Amino acid sequence: MPPQRIHLSPPHLTGHEAAALQSVLDSGWVAPAGPAIATFEAAIAAATGFRHVLATASGTAALHLAFRVLDIAAGDEVWAPGFTFIATVAPAVQMGAVPRFLDVDPACWTLDPHLLRHELRAAARRGRLPRAVVAVDIYGQSAELDAILDACRPWDVPVVSDSAEGLGATIRGRHAGRGARIAALSFNGNKIVTAGGGGALASDDPLYVARARHLAHQAKDPAPHYQHTATGHSYGLSSLLAAFGTTQLAALGARVAARRAIFDRYRAALSDLPGISFMPEASWGMSTRWLTGILVDPARFGADREMLRQALDLAGIESRPMWKPLPDQPVFRDAPRAGGAIAAALFARGLCLPSGTGMAEADQDRVIATIRGACRA
Ligand SMILES: *Cc1c(COP(=O)(O)O)cnc(C)c1O
Repeated sequence: MPPQRIHLSPPHLTGHEAAALQSVLDSGWVAPAGPAIATFEAAIAAATGFRHVLATASGTAALHLAFRVLDIAAGDEVWAPGFTFIATVAPAVQMGAVPRFLDVDPACWTLDPHLLRHELRAAARRGRLPRAVVAVDIYGQSAELDAILDACRPWDVPVVSDSAEGLGATIRGRHAGRGARIAALSFNGNKIVTAGGGGALASDDPLYVARARHLAHQAKDPAPHYQHTATGHSYGLSSLLAAFGTTQLAALGARVAARRAIFDRYRAALSDLPGISFMPEASWGMSTRWLTGILVDPARFGADREMLRQALDLAGIESRPMWKPLPDQPVFRDAPRAGGAIAAALFARGLCLPSGTGMAEADQDRVIATIRGACRA
């Protein structure tokens, strides 16, 4: 029998999920309202320090609500790093906004604040500032949010933090995303902890979260009949998933430690290989190392990133190229952009390795041996 396939980042159950689901079933409160939701929101607030939290059906739904709350309108520019998942901007694009993609900083792989500062000055001269800037946490590493906020402050451009990959990460001792007007979190199955799907919108400003809550539940005005002065969404999280997520969140600290240990183990076992380097960790924060990212220099390693990915695949190991830059996606071929060479190089050379915290050491050894075997230097 062939060995079991090793996946990139599968859900890691704690063993307490079934009891949590059963207690919600016993309570009868299974809809996207009720005590299990409030408990999950309080647990997210406690884990992150955000004062106000709304549980949502997904991280993408939280981003959509963030753009709604900030009144993004058709024709507005929304700026984001090009090196990210499409959900960072997709809801804004669906609202008619024009995305503009900026390059990332090679020291942290997140939005380059110097480039942002420069581009904001140029945009002010043109008389067309963005309506929002989205900072994005990548592979467990917080964006350089303080510098991004500093760059945006003179122009009063609001910053949204896509912290879907940043849960558990810190920046200067506080949780990733804190300081942005609104942050979006994700509890999708591949993230560091999961609710079996789900997300959250978080802010220190109660008004943003109250508006998002209203919009997330069909924008029902207070009246005995159905009364609406705006159209909303059906973006609430099921109580069942909220209870699932609460049990998972309790393990967040352990999951962060385990992801970091997986990264350290890869680095110790592979860093002597020519042409292999690891994602840097920014000095101002702690990364969760949600996914271990390596760069493959084909001239030195003797094989390129795609050859390595295929060698792993043949050995029953899932790995994944890093984000293909959004400005290089066919859907955004006409989108304005600034820079992009760093993001393009990360895509050309970058590979994410299996990083699930449920992975046995023997499985990680299989990944390591396959990478060592693929080296042709
Ligand atoms: C996962 C992810 C999202 C979307 O979260 P979902 O819960 O899957 O909707 C958004 N942005 C980034 C950067 C992500 O990695």
